[in-house]
Amino acid sequence: MVKKTVKDLDLKGKKVLVRADFNIPMKDGKITNDNRIQAALPTLEYILEQNGKVIVFSHLGRVKTEEDKEGLSLRPVAERLSELLNKKVTFVSETRGEKLESAVNELNDGEIMMFENTRFEDVDGKKESKNDPELGKYWASLGDVFVNDAFGTAHRAHASNVGIASNIESAAGFLVEKEINFIGGAVDQPERPFVAILGGAKVSDKIGVIENLLTKADKVLVGGGMTYTFYKAQGKYIGNSLVEEDKIDLAKELLEKAGDKLILPVDSVVSSEFNNDAPTDVVGQNIPEGKMGLDIGPKTIELFEKELKGAKTVVWNGPMGVFEMSNFAKGTAAVCEILANLDDAITIIGGGDSATAAQQLGFEEDFSHISTGGGASLEYLEGKELPGIAAISDK
Ligand code: ADP
Ligand code: MG
Repeated sequence: MVKKTVKDLDLKGKKVLVRADFNIPMKDGKITNDNRIQAALPTLEYILEQNGKVIVFSHLGRVKTEEDKEGLSLRPVAERLSELLNKKVTFVSETRGEKLESAVNELNDGEIMMFENTRFEDVDGKKESKNDPELGKYWASLGDVFVNDAFGTAHRAHASNVGIASNIESAAGFLVEKEINFIGGAVDQPERPFVAILGGAKVSDKIGVIENLLTKADKVLVGGGMTYTFYKAQGKYIGNSLVEEDKIDLAKELLEKAGDKLILPVDSVVSSEFNNDAPTDVVGQNIPEGKMGLDIGPKTIELFEKELKGAKTVVWNGPMGVFEMSNFAKGTAAVCEILANLDDAITIIGGGDSATAAQQLGFEEDFSHISTGGGASLEYLEGKELPGIAAISDK
């Protein structure tokens, strides 16, 4: 890796600023899923073991007004983190000022503190989200070195990632390192055959990913709602299926460019209603009037299995159907199963809903890597430079 990682830093006795991704789901002030806190532990534990002084922080939710702050304090996260680390985590309910500075100065080697939601700085002129140079410089002044372990915000240039990294020596945490190695590795130096599976709702969300992966992958399998925009581009009937009329020309272009690299479903599970209780049917490549395609069909599953056989790298973004409804989750589950059974292949999921689908369907353990960043992984798959990563010091 060209970027420094936390292992390249001299940490002993240093004030180590750590940008984590603690943007976790909360309900009524209670944490409903602490996956992201757990995911930050390896980096935090490593720095503590090296006798660094940890100052950890994150954003949580969106804050525009003073009222938005209600329910978005990081205090419950500090409490949960303290339980998980089995160690005191001092919490400072400020994002700047004397109280914060003296808490930092009172830290002993091997101790950890957290400060308040970085987006509380957004109330007054979006200082965090617009990467206000003064704010990044101020936060940087609190520490000796900076570790960025927040992959989920790596596609944004904010004060708490890019701002700080522009001012002091910085490195990737273990989580960010893992994302770079898996996603970056797959896209830039894949072991072949490299097959991409792209689905989800809209072509428009995935244009960049399709274009980029068509140049990198050996095969691109398409499923999900965007199938029907491609079908329409081919002059097929799509009934009431999801379609983006303004993307039909683009779909034509992509089909032409891709040749036989791009593989579309050969059948669909259809229904006349967007409803799990409505009767379903399986049809071929033309969708009857009044019906909509809501999942890939059994022949497509067979075809995709054949195409995936022997693959050494698989990147998957976007569910194959409306997996939220059991009648239309079979295609997505089948793809999970096919990937789970591939022998020594690197299998990667990038994309928020695809990750949720794999978890809900019980395949979480079967992938080499499930990205922790929805938007960030999508932009990474598009081949874009992620500002949060670009700002990290080179080795
Ligand atoms: P990701 O978050 O993994 O990038 P997307 O957000 O692009 O994925 O797409 C996920 C959504 O696509 C899901 O909510 C799913 O219900 C929807 N979807 C998949 N197939 C279809 C379809 N045939 N018709 C309508 N919606 C679909
Ligand atoms: Mg999504």
